[in-house]
Amino acid sequence: MPELPEVETTRRGLAAHLTGLAINDVVIRNASLRWPIPKQLPRLLRGCTIRSLKRRAKYLLMDCGSGTLILHLGMSGSLRILPANTAPEKHDHFELLLSDGSLMRLRDPRRFGAVLWHSGDAHSHPLLASLGPEPLEADFDARYLYQATRGRSVSIKQCIMDNHIVVGVGNIYANEALYRAGIKPRLAAGKLSLPRCARLVEEIRATLAEAIAQGGSTLRDFVGSSGQPGYFQQNYGVYGRGGEPCRRCGSLIKQIRQGQRSSFYCGNCQK
Ligand SMILES: [Zn+2]
Repeated sequence: MPELPEVETTRRGLAAHLTGLAINDVVIRNASLRWPIPKQLPRLLRGCTIRSLKRRAKYLLMDCGSGTLILHLGMSGSLRILPANTAPEKHDHFELLLSDGSLMRLRDPRRFGAVLWHSGDAHSHPLLASLGPEPLEADFDARYLYQATRGRSVSIKQCIMDNHIVVGVGNIYANEALYRAGIKPRLAAGKLSLPRCARLVEEIRATLAEAIAQGGSTLRDFVGSSGQPGYFQQNYGVYGRGGEPCRRCGSLIKQIRQGQRSSFYCGNCQK
């Protein structure tokens, strides 16, 4: 599943190509994504110039002047820039034909992605309005996390994966950040001290930033290539390493279920 680093890497790659181009036409091959692709999109977008491509949580926000095209990659989506004459394949559901002779194509085999339109401020869209801060922005800090978790008996892992508290911390990055911060995933969020909140914020930011930096090279070919971009394969500290020795202390990594997701931790290094 594309996590925040993949979405941000996609955004950076696409923004460099798309900004300033006009949209000549819109092709909807299969409107049945997570929500139906609006039928009026071709009429709304023809002739518009793409002003910017930004990101909020895992949503890509394409400012088209009269409104914003909101894109989400869901479980299996990917966006590519291709020559306009590139034949579509089975799972290519949506594309923008651009003024430089290229096209931007959405491929999404599992169809949990989204293509939506919002006129006016994109941040007021119902999907975006109640989201918590961005993990890499300054308003996500120790004081914020400390206050957001007071009185909470839910686990710290479930808290940092809650989009109302902070966006974009998926299961892999929650596991990794907690390991690096030395915090047990089952710890009640309300018990985390301010210094430990500071440590966790630092490790969430570092984990995501490293993945984005790595993604820049991993996905360097995704503009102009017809292949599927590979999602990042990283050398994880704990994620997916149940029963293997901790890289720090050699204890065996434990695996538990929390909120239907797998958690991995070292009982010795994480308290
Ligand atoms: Zn350990």
